[in-house]
Amino acid sequence: KPMSVADEKTVVRDYFNSTGFDRWRRIYGDGQVNKVQLDIRQGHQQTVDQVLEWLKADGNLPGLSICDAGCGVGSLSIPLAEAGAIVYGSDISEKMVAEAYYRAKDRLNVIQKLSFTAQDLETLQGRYHTVICLDVLIHYPQDQIPEMISHLCALAESRVILSFAPKTLALTILKKVGELFPGPSKTTRAYQHKEANIVKIFSDNGFSIQRQTMIGTSFYYSRLIEAIRNTD
Ligand code: SAM
Repeated sequence: KPMSVADEKTVVRDYFNSTGFDRWRRIYGDGQVNKVQLDIRQGHQQTVDQVLEWLKADGNLPGLSICDAGCGVGSLSIPLAEAGAIVYGSDISEKMVAEAYYRAKDRLNVIQKLSFTAQDLETLQGRYHTVICLDVLIHYPQDQIPEMISHLCALAESRVILSFAPKTLALTILKKVGELFPGPSKTTRAYQHKEANIVKIFSDNGFSIQRQTMIGTSFYYSRLIEAIRNTD
């Protein structure tokens, strides 16, 4: 039976305040991890670096307001603030934002441009030049995605950048193979999303895709897209 939106969110929040926090803090850190986790760490870093490269290339990062929805431990928020953006990081997990603050707090020039709040993206308000949401949609089934993306669009004056695990035949087979070897579940369920559906949701909200790329290592797959608000 499908879970309600509220139940689904509670599961995700509890996970990222407990075992998920320990797992992802390590992956998004620089300490020793196993081979698979190292691969995921490197793949995720490529996503972060790609976003930084795009935004720095635009040449208007200093002073730009950016909402980093589902900011995790601040892997993107912190370097964005370092580059001069005014960053509003938020995450459904209190533990994640506490860790993000801990990682930023000793760098005065950075922390002045950063704020972290424990809040799920659905309840965020206000307007930001840019709204970013990396590797969060993987935790939610397709039926919850239109509302989540539409809300992110409403927060964005100019653009939304997001990443998701693409639903492709090859990845579906890989996932099926993984499911043949159950073992103790280390993560929450991972949901892949069809790119066409995501592009359609953006289009319905008056946004068009500007830049996009695919990031893939052995165990990390992420489609990164930038959608710009149409001007008329
Ligand atoms: N965006 C960060 C990054 O790329 O470094 C973290 C990615 S991590 C895989 C997913 C994060 O999304 C977790 O920190 C989790 O707590 C957060 N999250 C999950 N559902 C959320 C929601 N509904 N609103 C805000 N954050 C959420």
